[in-house]
Amino acid sequence: MLTLKKELPFTEQEILDFLENTRTPFYVYDEAGIRNRIKKLKEAFSWANFKEYFAVKATPNPFILQITKEEGCGVDCSSMAELVLAQKAGFKNEDILFTSNDTPLSEYEKALSLNAVLNLDDIGHINILKERLYLPELVSIRYNPGGDFGNEIIGNLEESKFGVPKSDLIKGYKLLQKHGVKKFGLHAMLVSNELNPRNIIMVAKFLFNTAFEIKKELGIDLDFIDLGGGFGIPYKPDEEELDIYYISQEIKKLYEEILINNGLNPPKIYMEHGRYISGPNGYLVTKVFHIKDSFKKYVGIDANSANLLRPAMYKAYHHITVLNKKFEDENETYDVVGSLCENNDKLAVDRALPKLESGDILVFHDVGAHGHSMGFNYNGKLRSAEYLFTSDRKFKMIRRAETIDDYFSTLNF
Ligand SMILES: *Cc1c(COP(=O)(O)O)cnc(C)c1O
Repeated sequence: MLTLKKELPFTEQEILDFLENTRTPFYVYDEAGIRNRIKKLKEAFSWANFKEYFAVKATPNPFILQITKEEGCGVDCSSMAELVLAQKAGFKNEDILFTSNDTPLSEYEKALSLNAVLNLDDIGHINILKERLYLPELVSIRYNPGGDFGNEIIGNLEESKFGVPKSDLIKGYKLLQKHGVKKFGLHAMLVSNELNPRNIIMVAKFLFNTAFEIKKELGIDLDFIDLGGGFGIPYKPDEEELDIYYISQEIKKLYEEILINNGLNPPKIYMEHGRYISGPNGYLVTKVFHIKDSFKKYVGIDANSANLLRPAMYKAYHHITVLNKKFEDENETYDVVGSLCENNDKLAVDRALPKLESGDILVFHDVGAHGHSMGFNYNGKLRSAEYLFTSDRKFKMIRRAETIDDYFSTLNF
């Protein structure tokens, strides 16, 4: 059977040499790949006053954040820990967007101390900020228009806990104006892992029209419009990359038609992709322990869903390359499983692979975003190390593996 392949950033020899002295499982990120994705995104949107705010939750490692910083990104944070990470990586002021929800006061306090841009998930937060802390000069509101933008993951927005409906959006800007806020942002995240350009363009058109309505109703020229994250990546080898140059040109036409031709001050365009930047540039390297021949054929590996949750949580597909067997026929069908005491602990189901044996190395593709970061400790499983495959082709540890002492460190016994 001929199946499509996915490429690795390192040669088989490079990774096999590294594996001689390195314990599996581990994550490895491709520095050059991350830099290239950011460069491409910035180039595509260079017609606008554009900024990408890397979604920290996708890959919350300061070395990765540092790379995005060097490439001119800001960061999008949603929690105390993410704010601290952003701070440690050297971000401040308008380079930090704080897109939180159900936010504790202590996190607003931290965000304000970094002079970050607050992106409010509810207008109820306006009075809390006014009374307990203060309102900065620039504030953004997260909009949830309801309805459905054709995205499978987000679906019906009336079931979404995020953002405020139209009436609250208008009320919110009015209240902010009353309290002396001078500059305003509009934010929405209406698609996720979206591979259909039409849906992405539709979101931009919708938000530009909303900006025009805000101008008509309140006289406000928005400082920025944040189109959210959510550009998809081709997880399956037969899926196609988004043509972001095409998307950008279509969005440019709408920007001119709806905003410029109606006399609005040109707002900045922000995005906050995680997956699009780091997703294709992360790999999970694992080793086969056992092959089990039962009702189905099972490949037991040294990683499990605590290392990579997406397959169990979303039935997500992650392509697998078997080192040293790239050119062998994939005429076995396996479930690739971990050792959790949960039957959904399967990192691949009914997957065509070459005949495997104990000791084979399986590399999972496209795990750079929402991979390691979604890890957990169920069954006492430990979080793996993270490495950077640097632009000069070296493997550099950027997070050590958890030890059993780390795991027990919060217990008194
Ligand atoms: C998770 C998230 C993102 C990033 O999503 P990707 O799919 O990684 O692009 C951006 N913005 C918000 C508000 C999010 O919650």
